[in-house]
Amino acid sequence: MGGTQPAARLLIDLDAIIANWRHLSEIASPARCGAVVKADAYGLGATHVVRALLRAGCREFFVALVDEGVQLWEALKSEWPANARIHVLHGPLPGAEATCLSHGLTPVLNSLDQIERWTRLAAYHQRRLSAAIQVDTGMARLGLSPADLDRLQARPSRLDGITTTFLMTHLASAEEADNPMNVLQLERFNAARKRFSQALACLANSSGIFLGSAFHFDVVRPGAALYGVAPTVGQANPMRPVVRIKASLIQCRDVARGEGVGYNHTWSAPCPSRIATVSVGYADGYLRSASNRAKLRLNGEDVPVVGRVSMDTVTVDVSAINPEYLVPGALFDVIDDVQDINALALQAETNAYEILTSLGSRYRREYVGGQKIYP
Ligand SMILES: *Cc1c(COP(=O)(O)O)cnc(C)c1O
Repeated sequence: MGGTQPAARLLIDLDAIIANWRHLSEIASPARCGAVVKADAYGLGATHVVRALLRAGCREFFVALVDEGVQLWEALKSEWPANARIHVLHGPLPGAEATCLSHGLTPVLNSLDQIERWTRLAAYHQRRLSAAIQVDTGMARLGLSPADLDRLQARPSRLDGITTTFLMTHLASAEEADNPMNVLQLERFNAARKRFSQALACLANSSGIFLGSAFHFDVVRPGAALYGVAPTVGQANPMRPVVRIKASLIQCRDVARGEGVGYNHTWSAPCPSRIATVSVGYADGYLRSASNRAKLRLNGEDVPVVGRVSMDTVTVDVSAINPEYLVPGALFDVIDDVQDINALALQAETNAYEILTSLGSRYRREYVGGQKIYP
């Protein structure tokens, strides 16, 4: 035995990510389309994803943390195009400014304090430094408040030494197309833009791209939709699935009517049943909230999850499955094109972002595609 059969496999389709990026680019055109690759590209591997997107022509990348930007830069600096940029959404914490500069990172400045620290670094180096500036238009998370904008306007020299790449803001409810916050935030953003007449503007996340051209401005910055997350609540998903997960059958057993299965016996067999134990669990991001709700699939047939999801295993009712298929090592589809991350998120009462970013480190990861170079 070579021991090469993995317990669970995670397949990541880089061509689907590129197809999704191109689709978003077309919708947003003439705005340019960037890519948010924070949290290791939503758990899918930032180096692989960014390399594929660079080949497709993407030039604006966004991470959350300085450390994420440093890692990405170190991994790709030998092949980094001169016209590509990594923005750091959180901006630098005190003391991290020089690290940003030495790793070619462009901070998003979210407060007067961050602006002051970045201008101080510019003065020290006696050169202009690039940065985006974020304004808060109603998310109440990151960005300059209206009072901060007044203080900036009262003393414009606060921005001396900064070349503003974009003026930014972030929508709180973009996936709800009819939510009045979207238009309100758009109006507030347009008002803030009047104070920065020179700067390009960048507002839309994935869902924002689907709110219409008024939301596109100069650059859009999708994350989730690139990775197959449905952008708009209640509407068909236009994105291609990116992630597939298969997990191996470990063993099967027959249980009698009334016998309990798994921790705390949250499921008992209503009739004599056959139970398969499959090698994926909540440590792999198969969330506990999927217990007794989600399904796996074997050869195209649904098998319901019964009992609690454990750390390393999930139990499914395979009573209806031809026993010939129930051999150790048989591969169950955990996430496939029929039951994708969006469907699993509904069953597990979370969103598809959390499904993606919870995928653990135990999978054998296999990347397909991403090789083609686009003109
Ligand atoms: C995460 C994030 C995005 C990307 O949002 P998606 O919904 O994943 O497209 C864009 N902008 C900011 C500021 C973010 O934090």
